[in-house]
Amino acid sequence: MLRPYRLERELDRAVTQWLDWLPRWDPSTARRRLSPCVACPSWAIDLAFEEVPHGALHALTTSLDAVVTEHVRRSVALQPFLSDEAVDGLREQLRREASAWVGRQHAQIARALDAFVEPKVQHMAALLLADLGG
Ligand SMILES: [Zn+2]
Repeated sequence: MLRPYRLERELDRAVTQWLDWLPRWDPSTARRRLSPCVACPSWAIDLAFEEVPHGALHALTTSLDAVVTEHVRRSVALQPFLSDEAVDGLREQLRREASAWVGRQHAQIARALDAFVEPKVQHMAALLLADLGG
């Protein structure tokens, strides 16, 4: 098992990069997905971010998934005889740690969402309503 501080450092980097990017998030450039996202719904529930627009959240969950996957990969490289069940258990455990870690940044993330995402969502909603109105 890798030392947890490494996981936390990488999660910290992922969240920091996402927070740096968040002001540039633009809802009008969101591409319509042909199939539902497999990553976001479960992360959204774990992180209590069900209300966050998918495009904004997706950038975070893909980074978190990448951190978890990389740690699983490194653990398997160090312990090549792990069973599939052990690898699944490791992935689940790391994912729970990642959720808990991000959960501790929840207030800071919520402030960033309020500052950078919410006004754009409101603006889009206002434009839609204006369109409907005439
Ligand atoms: Zn997604």
